[in-house]
Amino acid sequence: MAHQFPYDADMTPTDLRLNISEINRRIRAAECAADRPSGAVSLLAVSKKKSAELIRWAHQAGLTDFGENYAQEMAEKAAQLADLGLTWHFIGPIQSNKTGLIAEFSDWVHSVDRLKIAQRLSDQRPPEKGPLKVLLQVKTSDEASKSGVLPDALKTLIDAVETLPNLQLKGLMTIPASSAEPAAQRVPFRHLRTIQQSLIGRNPELAILSMGMSSDLEAAIAEGSNLVRVGTDIFGARYN
Ligand SMILES: *Cc1c(COP(=O)(O)O)cnc(C)c1O
Repeated sequence: MAHQFPYDADMTPTDLRLNISEINRRIRAAECAADRPSGAVSLLAVSKKKSAELIRWAHQAGLTDFGENYAQEMAEKAAQLADLGLTWHFIGPIQSNKTGLIAEFSDWVHSVDRLKIAQRLSDQRPPEKGPLKVLLQVKTSDEASKSGVLPDALKTLIDAVETLPNLQLKGLMTIPASSAEPAAQRVPFRHLRTIQQSLIGRNPELAILSMGMSSDLEAAIAEGSNLVRVGTDIFGARYN
């Protein structure tokens, strides 16, 4: 269990280092338990609602990739921390009036679930930044967030996204309904993995499976995740 701090100001660089080493330990243990090579799973630190200072410390502790849910907040932090050369992932729901900010400030977008948004991201991507790396968010459980393409509609979306010049399709992402029970946690993750395996012959570029958060990363890694998105257990609870 990570240390919890009522305010970000109570957290020290040492606390953050301890949280990060504990998460890395959990990831390595889960890889090992699943007979997967050490290092198969990458860590995305979800820094939404956390200060630029905490992100700076996390970078000093070795993290390079940060995830944000709000376009304006990501743009501000990316500007404040431009000297660090961080990799920014947009993981939140995408409103069409925010695609310009997302196309400009992120390196990856995990939450593309409809063509209109993909088209806008491609149109608005500054050419000098190179293609925006994209994961398609898939709905794998009924009660999950409203976002996500239905599995039945995924192939059509993939084929359309592949034609967009400034996007590079890299994989799939899911946010399942939350469950405290490990066996139940694994079901939607297995579903996404099965979908990926059914497509990998025609779409070998779909190599990334972004799944697993603080409370279910072990279940996700057991089912083949290679990118976990961890917020609370790195930076503490979010209070605002
Ligand atoms: C907030 C968030 C996370 C991190 O969740 P924690 O439970 O704090 O680890 C991961 N993925 C998405 C899409 C999120 O919005």
